[in-house]
Amino acid sequence: MATMLFYNGNCSRHGLHVTSAAETGPSMDKHTPYYELLEAIRDAGCPICRLAVRSGDRFLETYSYEHVNDIEIRELVRLAKGFCHNHTWRLFHKHSPLGTALTFYDILGEAAHQIGAARERQGLLSSLAGRVRKRLAPEGTCLGCDAQSNAEQRHLGLLVESLRNEREAQEAYGSADGLCLHHLRAALRARPSREATDILLRVQEQRIAAVREQMSEIVRKADYRVKERVTQADIDSLPAALAQVVGQEALD
Ligand SMILES: [Zn+2]
Ligand SMILES: [Zn+2]
Repeated sequence: MATMLFYNGNCSRHGLHVTSAAETGPSMDKHTPYYELLEAIRDAGCPICRLAVRSGDRFLETYSYEHVNDIEIRELVRLAKGFCHNHTWRLFHKHSPLGTALTFYDILGEAAHQIGAARERQGLLSSLAGRVRKRLAPEGTCLGCDAQSNAEQRHLGLLVESLRNEREAQEAYGSADGLCLHHLRAALRARPSREATDILLRVQEQRIAAVREQMSEIVRKADYRVKERVTQADIDSLPAALAQVVGQEALD
């Protein structure tokens, strides 16, 4: 059976755990992931964005306390040349300035070493620029992004399964904000049942109509023949509209 690597906050060693699809697949047991999903559905905005960002943050939190001194995880981070832009700044601002310093002191030291090593190999056919570029290229992915994308897959599978046969989830979803368009496309790729598809699309159409209604004032005032100015309230309505398309703002 296929296995996948994902973040598990209960792992005492380093938060990365190999598990089987059977462990992570949708289940109708009333266990924590289901209720976590239900709670996220009832909150404002896309529930998959919320849960994915939360998983990335849980990884960074565990990393801050345990992984900085974990050789295995430090090596994965070193190969990935640190974290992506988003998770680097989240680690710094939300979790651990000290952990960020320890991590990137290593990353910068390694970069300096690789630049020096590339310089020493002058005279070969490849250009210095090409050799440095190759040595600085990441050899792995951001572990925060890995945690997020694994959470996305798990929760999308659980959502699609819940909308197929769980009355409680169907009712909660029916009166919620629905997904961002990015996660709607992902949910539709997960082969939802006809009933689940109907709920997903009905909620999406309602939400798109509501968001466009909110935005219509700005669009109206953008017409040069209209004398009224765009107000702060008009601008304040935009994040909800943008989140509906591209998902939750990364740094909130
Ligand atoms: Zn989303
Ligand atoms: Zn990342």
